[in-house]
Amino acid sequence: MKKPEQILKDVFGYDSFRPYQLEIIEHALANQDGLAIMPTGGGKSICFQIPAILKPKVTIVISPLISLMKDQVEALRSNGVESAYFNSTLPEAAKAVIYDKAVKNELDLLYMSPETFVAGLDWIQKIPISMLAIDEAHCVSMWGHDFRPEYQQIGGLRNYFEGIPIMAFTATADKVTRGDICEKLSLNNPSTFISSFDRPNLSLAVRSQVPKKQKQKEVVKFLSERTDQSGIIYCLSRKETEAWSSHLNSSGFNARHYHAGLSNEDREQVQDGFINDQYQIICATIAFGMGIDKSNVRWVIHSNLPKNIEGYYQEIGRAGRDGLASETILYYNYRDVVLLNDFVAESEFKEVYHEKINRMLKYAEASTCRRRILLAYFGEHLTEDCGNCDVCDNPPAFIDGTIIAQKALSAVVRSKETLGLNLLVNVLRGAKTMDIFERKLDTLKTYGAGAEYSYKEWQHFINQIVNQGILEIGYDNNLRLQSTELSTPVLKGELDVKLTSFEEKELKSKSKKKKSASGQTVDDTLLGQLKAWRKKKSSDNSVPAYVIFNDATLNDLASIKPIEVSALQDIQGFGKVKIERFGKDVIDIIRQNSTKLSTHDKTQMLYKEGHSITAIAEQRDLSEQTIINHLIKLFEDGENIQLSQFISEFEVQSVKQATEKLNNTVQLKPLHDELKGEIDYSKISIALAILNKRSNQFS
Ligand code: ADP
Ligand code: ZN
Repeated sequence: MKKPEQILKDVFGYDSFRPYQLEIIEHALANQDGLAIMPTGGGKSICFQIPAILKPKVTIVISPLISLMKDQVEALRSNGVESAYFNSTLPEAAKAVIYDKAVKNELDLLYMSPETFVAGLDWIQKIPISMLAIDEAHCVSMWGHDFRPEYQQIGGLRNYFEGIPIMAFTATADKVTRGDICEKLSLNNPSTFISSFDRPNLSLAVRSQVPKKQKQKEVVKFLSERTDQSGIIYCLSRKETEAWSSHLNSSGFNARHYHAGLSNEDREQVQDGFINDQYQIICATIAFGMGIDKSNVRWVIHSNLPKNIEGYYQEIGRAGRDGLASETILYYNYRDVVLLNDFVAESEFKEVYHEKINRMLKYAEASTCRRRILLAYFGEHLTEDCGNCDVCDNPPAFIDGTIIAQKALSAVVRSKETLGLNLLVNVLRGAKTMDIFERKLDTLKTYGAGAEYSYKEWQHFINQIVNQGILEIGYDNNLRLQSTELSTPVLKGELDVKLTSFEEKELKSKSKKKKSASGQTVDDTLLGQLKAWRKKKSSDNSVPAYVIFNDATLNDLASIKPIEVSALQDIQGFGKVKIERFGKDVIDIIRQNSTKLSTHDKTQMLYKEGHSITAIAEQRDLSEQTIINHLIKLFEDGENIQLSQFISEFEVQSVKQATEKLNNTVQLKPLHDELKGEIDYSKISIALAILNKRSNQFS
């Protein structure tokens, strides 16, 4: 039997496994039940696909989304793996063909939706099955954030498939759900594999309290620096998705909106258009994304505070599946919190939801490394700051904020907790506004007590004071600021307060010179040509672009620039089938593009293709002697050039004797004369190169 490593290279074109992939694969190969937890983009699919290829019978994959199934099957086929999907949308004839193949054990993988699976139990049992793989397994649990009733029915399948191993996969980490999955699926003594949730290629940034107009401006600026990239803007409401999309389209971008209110047809059309790089930007509610296996999403923006950290992490996780650097930005306002709390007000799980919103807010307001906070939420503890979040990029300086906090607290208390953030700042700054005079706030002792700080500075300080629990925002009381149990000790001077100093932050552009995964600089012109080629291939074959190659592969090609088909095996994502199918196309593009190829490289290319010296000279419009000189130079540089094919050993020996006779001269004319013109100049130079190398080898 082949080894998993070999399948990884030959079929998928990758050199090494990511953490836990090999363990999971070996576990599956040992016919054990198990649960594997990996973040979105972590590389779950390979964990069941490689065992499926290696195992003798058919692996059945249960997956909730038809579009995802179709894409996975196409990606597998493009790598030469026998696979199919079966669902209710297929015509009867197609179903019959697949059924036939499955029963005859002619498939490595068969994908099915849970409904089809449950409805087809009778005939499915006739298939020779190696393993059942349950993708998105959290859908089976009520505790997961995405319970699906169809999944509940597959709970009982253990009884039908005794002795057949079941592997479950999910990106949802929390403990309760985990246990529930194992129980609902009746997994036998399952091992659990939990890989790190860290996605170091995603940058994290948060923008707080940015007014709407400025937010729009910032986003437009951000996008105009990334016109060749795809991304998603997540919004809280349907209306907002439409507003964003029309704003962006009128600013010259190619955006579409997406939400659950659209017809199935429209949703599919938007989704396909995004996957195929037809629409660059999708403005969506969180309804968008689960079926999107698009590897080159380069950025994700949240226009509002998400409901919980799980959802947020999953949504930003849709960026950068190909492992390349990708950006995420979260915008939030206190209004978002009010809105979110209203959403859940009626729910019987209200308390839980409130707590989740709260944790989300804490993350947004953090002044320490964001990735550490996120991962800690999932129970993982980084020992160092990440260096790829806005806090790490711009670490705050701390100041003694005790007096600042006391001023704010005193204004809150003296006004009998009737002030919102805006009014509180105006009181502190001694602003002369209508509502201050109407409400006689100018008579408060603290009126104008903080005039030395600007409006923005106060806003910044009060946010932190709230963050530290010294004041709280009455989310159910018109966002009025209220004192907490920490307020009195601070007012009495028993508790010191540390605040970060204010610094006007702008949304920093992370955009640097593009680098490939291997760290080399990408040739943009070549990359553009490769993308155009990929687009054409994808529409010719009616598959999404990433099924042909993902961006990581194209970036590698455009930086390493291999000029021979044989060198493609060093490019990530080129398995054997893809080298065979697309290798020549890709090499042709690179060769045509590389004006920078030296004249020697060009000769070498033709030589390696097996052309004779005469043919090379003709094709390059150069003399044969020049071509021979190229080959000699390449030979001397250690390239694999068989000079001996152009000369006989007898001739080499004759030249050797002649040089010895002439005191080891390497001058062509005297040698030519000594040999009485019987060996021509080009052969003499070839012989000299061969002799030189031999003497070097023996010295
Ligand atoms: P998910 O866990 O979200 O299902 P996928 O299985 O779709 O993730 O994998 C995400 C991306 O990572 C895919 O483009 C896949 O080809 C790639 N990938 C998976 N394993 C490896 C690996 N060992 N080396 C390089 N790329 C990999
Ligand atoms: Zn960080």
